[in-house]
Amino acid sequence: MKYVGAHVSAAGGVENAPLRAAKIGAKAFALFTKNQRQWNAKPLSTESIDSFFKNCEENGFTPEHILPHDSYLINLGHPEQEQLQKSREGFLEEMQRAELLGLKYLNFHPGSHLRKVSEEECLATIAESINQTLEKTRSCIAVIENTAGQGSNLGYKFEHLAQIIEQVEDKSRVGVCLDTCHTFSSGYDLRDKASYTKTFDEFERVVGFEYLCGMHLNDSKAKLASKVDRHHSIGKGEIGLDFFSMLMNDTRFDNIPMVLETIDSEIWDQEIELLYSFTR
Ligand SMILES: [Zn+2]
Ligand SMILES: [Zn+2]
Repeated sequence: MKYVGAHVSAAGGVENAPLRAAKIGAKAFALFTKNQRQWNAKPLSTESIDSFFKNCEENGFTPEHILPHDSYLINLGHPEQEQLQKSREGFLEEMQRAELLGLKYLNFHPGSHLRKVSEEECLATIAESINQTLEKTRSCIAVIENTAGQGSNLGYKFEHLAQIIEQVEDKSRVGVCLDTCHTFSSGYDLRDKASYTKTFDEFERVVGFEYLCGMHLNDSKAKLASKVDRHHSIGKGEIGLDFFSMLMNDTRFDNIPMVLETIDSEIWDQEIELLYSFTR
């Protein structure tokens, strides 16, 4: 079974996210547990945590289908010590917040070398950041998202994800999230049966489906291999509907959160309906 939803707003408190997800017919959702553009956040209140639990339960959401996303400010591969430390502290706080909310996953972009260190060195720093965070937390899985490869962001090749995982000590607490827009714009074609098969065979060989914890469902405004990260509504971009139809009928993507991050939140309910209409 597929669990499709969207990255909903947590404005007014995290407890509002499951309510917003339910309203659009989502079976999964993503959220920021704090403002994604600020370092500081108020601690989660007991009231907020309790209502989050209650609202998830009443609307049928379980932690397996909720994919919190960390702040955009965090760079776990930062080449400078002071900034790296700040990012590691921020990431630890994000994971602690996820655990307080009883969540299973924390989704993040791997990091950027800012053209100051090699890719290898940066990937090793990212893995070390993950190791340090896992040591200080209990159960949450660090879910690395593949990227479009814009700027100096790593994660635009399956090999990057594999190299990070390889250096993470506790393999039971690391996973990946594939963003369909990023996959496409980083250079993996998805548009027809042959390219779809080739791309996910390669994913299986390099990373392995056992590490796949979630998907971001986005079409792409930018062309194949453009390394440009511009999301588009489902079926309106360069990837097209054939891909989403194949995806919705592929059991390798069952039982994981599949979350829309498309540009028009007004049509998320329709996009969810459209995606489910493909399932045969
Ligand atoms: Zn994404
Ligand atoms: Zn993106």
